[in-house]
Amino acid sequence: MTAIATLGSHCALQVLKGAKDEGFKTILVCEKKREKLYKRFRFIDELIMVDSFVEILDQKCQQTLEQNDAIIIPHGTLIAQMSSEQIESIKTPIFGNKWILRWESDREMKEKLMREAKLPMPRKVKNPNEINNLVIVKRQGAAGGKGYFIASNKEEYNKKRNGLISQGIISKDETLYIQEYAAGVLAYLQFFYSPLLEELEFFGADQRHESDIEGLARIPAEQQLKSNKVSSFNVIGNSPLVLRESLLEEVYTMGENFVDATKRLVAPGMNGPFCIEGVYDENARFTSFEFSARIVAGTNIYMDGSPYYSLLYNEPMSMGKRIAREVKNANESNQLDKIIT
Ligand code: AMP
Repeated sequence: MTAIATLGSHCALQVLKGAKDEGFKTILVCEKKREKLYKRFRFIDELIMVDSFVEILDQKCQQTLEQNDAIIIPHGTLIAQMSSEQIESIKTPIFGNKWILRWESDREMKEKLMREAKLPMPRKVKNPNEINNLVIVKRQGAAGGKGYFIASNKEEYNKKRNGLISQGIISKDETLYIQEYAAGVLAYLQFFYSPLLEELEFFGADQRHESDIEGLARIPAEQQLKSNKVSSFNVIGNSPLVLRESLLEEVYTMGENFVDATKRLVAPGMNGPFCIEGVYDENARFTSFEFSARIVAGTNIYMDGSPYYSLLYNEPMSMGKRIAREVKNANESNQLDKIIT
């Protein structure tokens, strides 16, 4: 029987609980510093202890995974801590499409895919000299919003950038990505595309709580103006969001457009969980600033099933369990090649 494995971070608990519920052996690649935490959970059958997650590339680790006939479920930590080359060189089968993870990490490729999917995006500002509106300045890769900042002109951009360099948060030669700031209600739209059913499922929506930008909003404007602190967008946690029902039609269309675009640009396409992230403005128009081409941590809020999945499944269904169900169905119908890369 195939085992399901993942890295000990991000949404590992949900993924392995779902796998256990579907009858799989569960394996966690665990950093020594987190051993105590993960040993609390009995649904984790085996821990592969490592000093750092890149050891997943070592022969010893790969051998253990191979002996267990394991499939790795990729998540944000894999992308944040390993290069695209390293991820692509993992020999253990990866759930979904490992080639698309590069498109998530690289800002230029990401933009190309989003354009292909016809997602409305905020304007890109090519050069700090061209900042004439409120912009958000981002780092490369899945940095989780850490080190991001807001600026309204070139001087503010330089001042904040230099401040972050001197604090060692960003490096001097790091290319930053500047994008127009989109104001409105944040919504992170979570989907699952099943290549077995050839069907898109909308799982749910969440909002992220980011520090210290949220902290800034809690103090009066007078004190905000006096503050010299460069607020960051470091994700601390997530909370649920249920959308107006009249928005759902467009949500499905965006998800389907995204899946179609991935089929054209990065075979075999967007299989498994993904997320389209953005903002609804005052006219309920969506602007998308980001996508994640794998399970997002925002699905952790629905470990017992989401509102939308309760409409599709007559049982509690987390995203972790949905992934395991897809592996199980593929296994039983000899179609594993359709769901892994
Ligand atoms: P990202 O890494 O692109 O997901 O961005 C991290 C966080 O920055 C998001 O969760 C948003 O809170 C914020 N953000 C990113 N891009 C924009 C944008 N264009 N307009 C407004 N907020 C943004």
